[in-house]
Order: sequence, then C-alpha cells, then structure tokens
Amino acid sequence: AHLDRIAAVEPAVHAFLHVAGEEALATAADVDARRAAGEDLHALAGVPIAVKDVVVTRGLPTTAGSRILEGWVPPYDATLVGRIKAAGLPILGKTNMDEFAMGSSTEHSGYGNTHNPWDLDRIPGGSGGGSAAAVAAYEAPLAIGTDTGGSIRQPAAVTGTVGVKPTYGSVSRYGLIALASSLDQAGPCTRTVLDSALLHELIGGHDPLDSTSLSDPATGYVAAARAGAGADLRGLRVGVIRELQGEGYQPGVLARFEESLEALRGAGAEVVEVSCPSFAYALAAYYLILPAEASSNLAKFDGMRFGLRVEPSEGPVTAERVMAATRGQGFGDEVKRRVILGTYALSAGYYDAYYGSAQKVRTLTQRDFAAAFEAADVLVSPTAPTTAFKLGEKLDDPLAMYLNDVATIPANLAGVPGMSLPNGLSDDGLPVGFQILAPAREDARLYRVGAALE
Ligand code: GLN
Repeated sequence: AHLDRIAAVEPAVHAFLHVAGEEALATAADVDARRAAGEDLHALAGVPIAVKDVVVTRGLPTTAGSRILEGWVPPYDATLVGRIKAAGLPILGKTNMDEFAMGSSTEHSGYGNTHNPWDLDRIPGGSGGGSAAAVAAYEAPLAIGTDTGGSIRQPAAVTGTVGVKPTYGSVSRYGLIALASSLDQAGPCTRTVLDSALLHELIGGHDPLDSTSLSDPATGYVAAARAGAGADLRGLRVGVIRELQGEGYQPGVLARFEESLEALRGAGAEVVEVSCPSFAYALAAYYLILPAEASSNLAKFDGMRFGLRVEPSEGPVTAERVMAATRGQGFGDEVKRRVILGTYALSAGYYDAYYGSAQKVRTLTQRDFAAAFEAADVLVSPTAPTTAFKLGEKLDDPLAMYLNDVATIPANLAGVPGMSLPNGLSDDGLPVGFQILAPAREDARLYRVGAALE
C-alpha cells in the first residue's frame, strides 16, 4: 500500500531519491513468514520506514543529497540501519535532503527540491524535508532524520508531523555521513508521539563503534508516551523561554503556542517564564562551529575515495587539480560557502577570534540550559518562527534561511533532547510546531508531555 502511495504522489512531492520496492517487499514477506511460524517479533516488525539519504545503507545508493556521491553504494550499514533491519522493518527507500544536511528547506539538494504536501508551492523544511514530507504525505508511516541544528524538528513543524532529536550520544552516529560531529544526532519522524517513542527505543542504545555513544543511554520512552496520553501533568514545571518568542515570530505561530500553554495549564502543569540570554548569540556561534567541523568532515570528498572523480579539462592531472575539479563540480553553492567559512574560521590568526569565541558562547548556552532546568522540568517554544515559506523565497538570502533555525539550534549546542509536536494550523492554514526540550538523558519527559498535549 505504501509503495502504491509512493507511486501516486511522488511525481508531485519528490520526497524520495531512491525507492527500494523489491527489497522492502522481500523484507515484508520474510516478516510474514516469521510471524506465521510463531516467532516473537518487535512491535514495529513489518512497519515500513523511509531513511534520510545521509544514513548509509548497504546495497542502496547513498548520496547525502550531493552530486559528489552520485552512484555511490555503501558496503556497510549504519548501526541504526542494522537495528531497523534486525527488527524487520522494510526500508522503503532513501529520502531527499539539503546537500550534506546544510539547509532549512531541502532546496539545496543536488537532485531537485521536495514539495510540502500541505501546499506544493512551499518548502517542506530542511535539511530532512524528504523524510518529513514522506510521513506527512502518507508515503511512509515512519522515517529517520538527522538533526544538527534542527533538521528533524523544523521539517516536522512545517509538515505537521512529530520529530525528535535525541540526547547527543544516545543514538549511534556510526554510518551517518558526518556534517558537524559534535552536533549531529539521528532520530525519528512520525505522525504520532508513540510511534516516535517506539522508533527511538529501537534505534537508540550504546554502540562501541561510536566513540561519543553514551555507555548507558536512558530509555523508557514508550512507557512515558503511554503514561502521558490523557494523563494529568500536575507537578510538572514548564519553562517558556523568553528569548524564543516575540519579534520575528508569525502572529499565528504565537497564537497556537499560547493555546498549547493554556492546554498545559489545563492539564495541571505550572507554566513559568525562564530566561536564556546567550540564545541571542547561539545562531551566530552555530554558524561558525558547524562550518568549521563541516569543512574538516568534507575533506574526504576528494575525487579519490568515493563517488565522483573529475579530471581537469586541460593541463596536468595532479592530485590537487583532480581534487579541485571534483569539488568544484560536485559540491553545490551552499556547501562551498560553508567550506570557505569554516576553513577561514579555523585558520591561524582567526581561530581564537571566531572559533574560540563561538565555543565560549556554546558553553554559555549550556549554562543557560542548566539554570533553566533548575526552574523547570521541560522548556518550550515555537519550533520555527514561521510556517512553511514559498519555494525560492529565501534561496538567495543565506541569512534569512539561517534565521529559521533560531529556536532549534540551542539544543544541539548543548546536546539536550528536543521534540517538535504538531500545534494546529496558523492563520494561513499551514502547520505550526510546538517545541519541547528536556535535560540530557531525560528524553522520556518529551514523550510524556508530548503525548499529553497530542
Ligand atoms: N538548517 C540547519 C543548517 O543548515 C540545520 C541543519 C541540520 O540540522 N542538519 O545547518
């Protein structure tokens, strides 16, 4: 049924870069046979899933949305993919994304943009717009995204789906094509809070292949989602982040946010205001730290090791000239912009002024979170300042594009978990997201509060 749905809507939505119909049907048949034989299967066995194309999948093409990886077929599975396969979830295919996960609209994909199923003239968010659109368009009930600065939560917000960025280190990064290693985290994109909890528990847990993997990540997400549904929230302190509302936020987004605060109060929660002054600088710090790490991570795409290789059209074929020709042709404009920014910020003489200052702001962000979590059990804000904008609207204005991430970035800088929950429709009829943040390792709180609000 999902493959039929994909065939019907893909010409309009373009959420997928590769559909693995045969492989998915084979997995489904295998699960049916195991079930018929009385085997005790995972709760999600047989439930199809779409995987963002930045996650490596053995035997399935993986491009990270970049032309430089066109035609590359990985010889191994990411740890999370291995867990998905072992539990018997058919993988429907690989979803579209901004090139190397750099972007907030999926328009920086090397393979054309994805359309928001709510309004095909609008962006589905990014960088994981393909995963969110596939779930919103009922092409897949579950999807995997990655979130470095909001790429799971912001697409969820603008497509009316649920997206979760887990605590840093709780889901293995082994087999993710790294964007910024200190910020990247994979997580679920689904239509319900319970579905996210089920998927999060499946993909999470310690992995010796990831040196930043927590030794004993917390769990209990499914129990928390079940307990939260319809339950009362008496005793829960909810902190509204003063810096993440007001100017720049669409009135309809703020109105829905206020309604959700009312619903939280109605469920017995105590709503307080908290202040995180460093968040005013978080966006600027992120756009130094991310390019710095990305410029280093992307150095391996040199025309020798993976995918595309371009030889210079004239002159000698030296290693350096092959690298320049390959990267010049294989990378898109946004990737080049960030590689240039990152190498500049890391260069001798500028390191302390830029990268060093950004790292200090990062520490302040962590301290602001620590203080805020003294006053509140969870923090809340709108996920994104506006609803989905029109395709092309911000493409030529990188700063306007970066401003979409203002509310999602602090969580990545501090490593804390966050969820975006559907929060009704704005005055323009488009979905709004409600963001919930919890202290590191307290992801279960997201599920309890999310399920109560759902
Ligand atoms: N929009 C952010 C960026 O462009 C987020 C990216 C992400 O989370 N992968 O960097």
